[in-house]
Amino acid sequence: MLKQSHYDYLVVGGGFFGAVLASELSSAGHRVVLCEKEADLMQRASYVNQARVHNGYHYPRSLLTAIRSRVNFPRFTHEFAPAIVSDFRKLYAVPFQFSKVTARQFHRFMERIGAPIEAASDEDAALFDRSLVEQVFSCVEFAFDSVALKGIVRGRMERAGTELALQTRVRAVRSATDGIEVDYLAPGGEGRVTAREVLNCTYSQINRILGDSGLPLIRLKHELTEMALIEPPEELRHIGVTVMCGPFFSCMPFPPRGLHTLSHVRYTPHVSWEDSAGSHIDAHAWFDSAPKKSRYAHMVRASARYLPCLARGIQKDSLWEVKTVLPQSEGDDSRPILFRRDQGLPGLTCIMGGKIDNIYDALVEFQKECVTP
Ligand SMILES: Cc1cc2nc3c(=O)[nH]c(=O)nc-3n(C[C@H](O)[C@H](O)[C@H](O)COP(=O)(O)OP(=O)(O)OC[C@H]3O[C@@H](n4cnc5c(N)ncnc54)[C@H](O)[C@@H]3O)c2cc1C
Repeated sequence: MLKQSHYDYLVVGGGFFGAVLASELSSAGHRVVLCEKEADLMQRASYVNQARVHNGYHYPRSLLTAIRSRVNFPRFTHEFAPAIVSDFRKLYAVPFQFSKVTARQFHRFMERIGAPIEAASDEDAALFDRSLVEQVFSCVEFAFDSVALKGIVRGRMERAGTELALQTRVRAVRSATDGIEVDYLAPGGEGRVTAREVLNCTYSQINRILGDSGLPLIRLKHELTEMALIEPPEELRHIGVTVMCGPFFSCMPFPPRGLHTLSHVRYTPHVSWEDSAGSHIDAHAWFDSAPKKSRYAHMVRASARYLPCLARGIQKDSLWEVKTVLPQSEGDDSRPILFRRDQGLPGLTCIMGGKIDNIYDALVEFQKECVTP
């Protein structure tokens, strides 16, 4: 059960965003509790993802997202250095057909945003089927180890004195005289506390809390995603590959398991749905009950056309998670943050970062909107 009856801030969701925000607020001297329904921090999207620290290359159709990635990359890799994995070469390839950008456009765009880019070595380029791939570039992009990242943010929370309530699910919020009243369910039973401000950092579950509280929902698009975990062929052991920009694939190191993820634009999303004004699906409950039949065979067949050695990869497992994006990102594949202050209730803020390094954009917005002098 929570230790106090009133807090300055109650943060819902112990993913990377909730945990960093909670530690920042505690460091600033506020009384903060972080409620996470799982048994540990960062077990959901902050663990199950492609582990890419974006540096702009992924967004040749969204200048703003590409530039924000370029700005955040050095800061993120410096601040979270012990969790950064950089001992691999990163190749981006552009096929002749079906790509929304040509190799020349890709190269020019990266030069424009100042992202380091050069032609890949002959040896690396020869990994690809050059009858299908127009050009292969050598780029600077790293991966993060989410388990190491969790260790860093947990340490910060402990030092800052954030109260951490694991296995504690926030059920609903409502207006109260001294802020917001919060109902929760913890191992010791049901409880109720108040907080001056509540931050809803629950990613795919943002609308679950809003809906259960009778508050207006936010338009969000969800996908049930599968990334295959593979033992890569020897040639790819120290290489990460992304083929851009269309119905292609990425094969990236996944540091917590010492394997690579393989994801494919066509086969990684199994089902998608949208929460809209009047209705939403409980994404996690739905996730738990959804059938999860691997599409690895399709993924590897489609990807190995471009990168033949992938056919020798060995699938060890699959990682499944609900991926949530803003519907407006569909057209240009951008990744802005969601930041909704006073969502149906004064003091209730909903925050979702489309990618890990967006934490800095969220912190800036938070300072601007929520910090009272
Ligand atoms: C398949 C996939 C690939 C991705 N690839 C990348 C990538 O390569 N690079 C990148 O930067 N980003 C990537 N992302 C995006 C990135 O993972 C997310 O932006 C980030 O992890 C979101 O962090 P979060 O803290 O908002 O969400 P989460 O980590 O999901 O945290 C939300 C937390 O809220 C908890 N919660 C939910 N409801 C309640 C409740 N009622 N009470 C208490 N707790 C609750 C959940 O248990 C969860 O721990 C990817 C995402 C997916 C799914």
